[in-house]
Amino acid sequence: MSSSNYYRSWIDRPHLDPNTRLLTEEYQRGITEFMGLVQRQPEAETGMLRCPCSNCKNRKIIKEWDVWTHLYLNGFTRSYKIWYHHGETDYEYGSTSEPQPAVSHLQTYLLTNCEDVLQYERIFMAEKRFEYRYATEEELEELKQREFSGWMLTYVSASMTIGETFDDWIREMVRGPEYVVKSYTRFCTRGYAFTTQKRRHSSTTYDASVCSASGDDVYYGNIREIMEINYS
Ligand SMILES: [Zn+2]
Repeated sequence: MSSSNYYRSWIDRPHLDPNTRLLTEEYQRGITEFMGLVQRQPEAETGMLRCPCSNCKNRKIIKEWDVWTHLYLNGFTRSYKIWYHHGETDYEYGSTSEPQPAVSHLQTYLLTNCEDVLQYERIFMAEKRFEYRYATEEELEELKQREFSGWMLTYVSASMTIGETFDDWIREMVRGPEYVVKSYTRFCTRGYAFTTQKRRHSSTTYDASVCSASGDDVYYGNIREIMEINYS
């Protein structure tokens, strides 16, 4: 049996012990943790819950007791590790072998703001719309924030094993950035000098305001941090 213990890894392992055909201990602990979490949510008072079992996949709302039964019989939906359908908002229990929230957030931000990645984002969203037919746009957006970077890595790796080719930059990018980033208070690029807001009072020749356009939307903002991110 695998001894790896990354974030909620029990969800990836079989829920039944092959010898006894009973629920494994780690699975019991996991389900108990899950039910503990949902019972603290306001919706719990209705006695009805969205069922995360591998059959319902969060698409059905059923009686709490039936959720227990489903989880015992069917096991958890494999990819459902952040329980955002059940009140969890982010990685609440950080583990060292899992990308830390800041890094995974950064990776998602970079991927979803890269024009050449857009075609893959569309495939991802189409898959998710099919898989979670009843999810709202907001839920799908959350799903993208949480799962897209992982999906991208899997998608590129799986496509390469069947002979598809990708540019070097995309193969490097999907593996995620290095965990160490360089931080600057000033940076010159393409003939422009930028500085972070903190320095602005001491300088008049640098600009901390930026504007970026994406489709019809134009964003204005102030620079708070300048980071150099490396991919290898
Ligand atoms: Zn179910």
